[in-house]
Amino acid sequence: MRKLVTVLGATGIVGSKALEIIRKHKEKFYVIGISGHSNVSLLVRLAIEFSPKYVVVSNLHLSSELEQKLNNFDIEILCGKEGLAFLASQKTDILVAAITGFAGFEPIFRAINSGTDIALANKEALVAGGHLLMPLAKQKGVNIIPVDSEHNAIFQCMMGQNWNDVDSITLTASGGPFLSMNSKETQKIPPSEALKHPTWSMGAKISIDSATMMNKGLETIEAAWLFDIGKEKISALIHPQSIIHGIVKFKDKSIISHMAPTDMKVPISQAMAWPERLKIEIKEIDLLEVESFNFQDIDASKFPCFKLAYQLIEEDPCYSVALNAANEIAVHLYLDHKLEFGNIYTLVARTIDMIETTNLDDYQSIIDYDKYARNIAISMRL
Ligand code: NAD
Ligand code: MG
Repeated sequence: MRKLVTVLGATGIVGSKALEIIRKHKEKFYVIGISGHSNVSLLVRLAIEFSPKYVVVSNLHLSSELEQKLNNFDIEILCGKEGLAFLASQKTDILVAAITGFAGFEPIFRAINSGTDIALANKEALVAGGHLLMPLAKQKGVNIIPVDSEHNAIFQCMMGQNWNDVDSITLTASGGPFLSMNSKETQKIPPSEALKHPTWSMGAKISIDSATMMNKGLETIEAAWLFDIGKEKISALIHPQSIIHGIVKFKDKSIISHMAPTDMKVPISQAMAWPERLKIEIKEIDLLEVESFNFQDIDASKFPCFKLAYQLIEEDPCYSVALNAANEIAVHLYLDHKLEFGNIYTLVARTIDMIETTNLDDYQSIIDYDKYARNIAISMRL
């Protein structure tokens, strides 16, 4: 039986790789719906190739262009947040959540409510709404299978293991493009430099997050929600070779770690096909070519974004919503050359200092709080 799949963020790096996997394994998957923000020409090509029931694009103007181009096909074109929510509410076997940022939160919420398993790349949704999404997934019997490579590594290390036996988990980090530079040298570094990641090819937002190491901070919060474990059991280490992605230490001092090539097809295919595994054609690791495995601590004075995010695990969820919202604003401003690289941290930290906490126990309150925090971040002049 083929798995019915929805791919949100189908025009991005992760979404495209998910579709590449489907393309090679048509006997395993059938695409029900795809979404993209604005890349109409790619959406048209994908729609013609995969003939999904639904295609969603973000704005109305673009949806009429899409409608014209797909006029001869039996495909429903939807648009905006409502369209995305509708698509995510259609029960399928798995939804690949590959939208960047908080924009992915509502669709994930809808998909979980409909009982669809999630292959989760969109870490920001869990950072902001983990306290709502994880209990909801449990209540609905929905599996959230991590696509983020470190979390997928931990997920794989834990196959056949018991969480009661775990002493700690470690997420690895490449260290990003500025590992060997100090904060003075990076203060005014341009986006063109920050976008050059040493080991992974990724979208702009996550590339900047990797350069500030906010990404690793967000990932520690993501890990706490995904695996339901306390802060004291979660750590991160720089491992510049990016060969080992996740490490689990057990109470008998055994260590199980996961190695894989730096190609997101590994975790994406694992999450989509789980509990099966698929054959994928990518360059494999030649262990004889690996000269060394190095690990080093993350220097919090150099990467304050990491520390800031890590500190928020187990704190009031308002802080992580604000962290994520302010970071999205800061990254956006930086990419627009309106904020210095070194001020990304300052903008996020000041936003967190300024917020007043409130109850975030339902879906709408999280959406509203994200807006509130964004407004504070936008109003800041740095
Ligand atoms: P990307 O920028 O290449 O793609 C993002 C996708 O989201 C695109 O399809 C875009 O059209 C869509 N999108 C963006 N803003 C939107 C909005 N407001 N509304 C609707 N759709 C919107 O990013 P990516 O690198 O594929 O990353 C996607 C997610 O996966 C992110 O959350 C990222 O942190 C996570 N992730 C990526 C990688 C990676 O290697 N690229 C690894 C781990 C986790
Ligand atoms: Mg990651």
